[in-house]
Parts: sequence; C-alpha cells; structure tokens
Amino acid sequence: MKQREPIVAIATPYGESAIGVVRLSGLGVLEKVLPFVNVKKPRPRYAHLVKLFDEKGEQIDEGIMIYYQAPKSYTGEEMVEFFLHGNPIILKKVVELFLRNGVRMAQRGEFTKRAFLNGKMDLIQAEAVGDLIGAKSELALSSALRQLRGELSQIISPLRERLLNLSAFVEASIEFEEQDIPTLSQEEILRSLQEIEKSIQSLLATVKMGEFLRKGLNLAIVGKPNVGKSSLFNRLLGTQRAIVTDVPGTTRDFLQEPINLEGIPINLIDTAGIRHSTDPVEQIGIQRSVEKLKSAHLILFVAEAHKPLQAEDLYIHSLVKDKNHIVVLNKVDLGLWDGHRERFENFVAVSAKEGEGLDELKKTILETIGTTSGEGLYISIRHADLLQKSLEVIKLLADRIQKEEVSPEILMLYLREAQHYLDELIGEITTEELLGEIFSNFCIGK
Ligand code: GDP
Repeated sequence: MKQREPIVAIATPYGESAIGVVRLSGLGVLEKVLPFVNVKKPRPRYAHLVKLFDEKGEQIDEGIMIYYQAPKSYTGEEMVEFFLHGNPIILKKVVELFLRNGVRMAQRGEFTKRAFLNGKMDLIQAEAVGDLIGAKSELALSSALRQLRGELSQIISPLRERLLNLSAFVEASIEFEEQDIPTLSQEEILRSLQEIEKSIQSLLATVKMGEFLRKGLNLAIVGKPNVGKSSLFNRLLGTQRAIVTDVPGTTRDFLQEPINLEGIPINLIDTAGIRHSTDPVEQIGIQRSVEKLKSAHLILFVAEAHKPLQAEDLYIHSLVKDKNHIVVLNKVDLGLWDGHRERFENFVAVSAKEGEGLDELKKTILETIGTTSGEGLYISIRHADLLQKSLEVIKLLADRIQKEEVSPEILMLYLREAQHYLDELIGEITTEELLGEIFSNFCIGK
C-alpha cells in the first residue's frame, strides 16, 4: 500500500447544509491534523467530538472527527474526516488551514484514484463510483451499485484469466518442446476462444442501454402540425408543459423535458410540426426539428388515426422510416381508418386526449429500447471499445485456426494482444492519460 502526499478537499456540495465533510488522505495526515484539534490520540474508526482551532488558537468549529489508520480506509492511506457544520465559510476556513500547513488541494476524483492505485478496487469499480454519484434513475443506480460491488469485474476478469491460461499452455509448449508436458490441441483452443467470444458479445449487447442510462435517451416526437404531438408530449410528461391549440404551427421550436420511464432517463423532445411554411420563424423551428431527428435514439412518428395519411405525413414518414421509430396513430377516440392497417405493419393507436393506448405506447417504447438485455449490468463506451478490440483479435485467431495449423508463436501473439485489451479494461495496465480521463469526470472530494 503506497502512501502519497497529503491531500484535502470538501467532500459535500457547496452551500448551506446540516453537515459538511472535509476529508484528508495521505502520508502523515494525522500528524498534520493533530496540532489543530483537542484530541491527542484518536482511536482509529472512532467518532471523536472535537474542537478545531486555527494556528492562533482561535476555534473554527466543533464537530466529529474520524481517523482511519492505513490501510483500513477508502483510499488505503491514512485518512481523517471531519463532519462539521455545513457552512461554506467554515469548510473553506478548514481547508485553507490545512493548505497552509503542508497539505495540498485534492484533484477531481483523487481519493478514488488512490483507492484504485492501492488496489482497493479495480478500474471498473472506480468508474462505478462516478456512475453511482451521477446516476439519474433507479435502474442506473442499481447497475452502478452492482458494478461497484465488482459484479462486472467478476464477468470480465475470468475472461482475461482464460486468455492468460491459454497463453501459459502455448508458452509451455514452446519452451518445453522436447519434454512430455500436456499441451492443448488447436480444437481445444478454438473452443475456448469461441466461448470467450460469446461472453464478450453478450456484454457488448448492453452498451447501448448503458449509455442511455448514463446520458439519457433522446426520444423525439414528430409529425405534421395538429396531429397531437404536444398533447402526447404533455401526456407522457404528466403535466401541461407544451401549449396545445388547434391552430397549426403553434409549436415554433422544440421543447425538451426529462422523463423517467421504468427507471430509464429519457429526454422527451416535442418538435415543431414539419411542413412547408413561408413563415421565417416557423421555418427555423422546422429546420431544428429536422436536426433533432438526427440525434434522436428513438422517434415517435405521429399521424391521425381517423384519417388517411396526407402528403405531409408521407413526407415525414419517409424521413423516419429507416430510423428507429414507432408509428403512433393519435386521436383514435375519433375512430381508426382501415387503410392504416395495410400501410403499417405495426402501430400503436392512442388518444392523447382521453389517455387510451398510452400504457401500450410506453410498453412499446421500452420494448423497442431493449430494456431486457444485460440483466441489470450495463457497460460503458470505454468498456465496449476495449471489449470490441479484444473480440476482433479473438475472431481473427479463431478464423486462422479453422483454416490452418497455427504455430505456437503466432498463437502467443494473438492471445497476448487480446488479453492486453482486457488488462486495460480492468486497469491491470494503465497510463496517466487514461486515469486522468476517467477521474477528471469526478467531483473534487471523491
Ligand atoms: P401538435 O400541433 O401536433 O402539437 O398538436 P396539438 O397537441 O397542439 O393538438 C392539436 C389539436 O388536436 C388540439 O385541438 C387538440 O386538442 C387535438 N387533439 C390532440 N390529441 C387528440 C386526441 O387524442 N383526440 C382528439 N379528439 N383530439 C386531439
């Protein structure tokens, strides 16, 4: 366990609160703190009620101090945490006191980075700390918590170990060529590779959902003016946010509001009705709607249920039909025109006015997003990138083995490369650059 230079930070958000936390970590941190508190020999992991003084002996505050003896702390280093009155002026004074006395300001995520560097958690778990704090929904929270508990690492580490084992066997067959030691046949290696391939693929299938959970899913409502987009937007939102009128072209710009559908954070976007317009303001709105379509993960194409499609509907449908979309036929309270069944293989008939069909629409949205994959564990883009790279190498090798007898030296090359990406994934090998990238997204004090 390595102890680094002492650092300090406020660990709670800025502003007035009941309690504010200041934490310190690093080599000799207790020694830095003791001159300023009225407890001389704190017991580790014990809540001491202390008075905190500055250099002149003036009291700054009174609160709880906990001392953690290395390595039994979050970072694995010696740590001290103060639970003080949550006044920003007090907390700032405390931090400044330590800054004047040999402690430096912590960088973003530096406590967690040290926990990682000291082997308290692997890189995937350290990332989960950030995800956990930033989680915007129940589902994101539970995924981050499971990742923090190491569940994702427990799927990925064995894959890495299998590659390592294969390498070991192949390496032994090179080194001890003359001797009678057990070796693996090419078929056995191939079978192993195929199993690893399958596991990686099922992990990769969760990345889309993982990104939705982390960043939210953009769901755009499009359709020509007056089909009921704003009414549907309000229905899904549960409040009257968008203005509903029977004058076409009233939504001049797009509206965006967050909603939460079964734990999935969704950015719901009500676009301006797309149509030919000579009004310059409406034109800008329409242009923005077309732009919004491009960034949408899922589109609700809205048309009227009781009428045949018109030229404008057909034009908008042509814009979305090759994208991930759901056909929503609104105003079904006024009837359902038969011709829709012939044109659309699937659609959801709703009445934004009466509320009919809305549960089915929500269900269809969730099914289309594919919430069922991943069993509650979702990987990030960084994970997916490295898994994909590893997968490509494994596939290439599997291909070669199926075509020809591959020499042990070549096998080694491939196996090592595939393993290398998984090493990077769990943080067996890291660079300062990578760590900087990951931990710079954290808040200070974490
Ligand atoms: P937008 O221009 O597509 O956003 O449409 P609005 O939501 O502003 O609605 C246009 C008109 O259609 C308003 O008069 C709404 O009251 C009406 N409307 C919306 N949804 C329904 C529905 O499900 N049934 C009926 N009968 N009228 C609706």
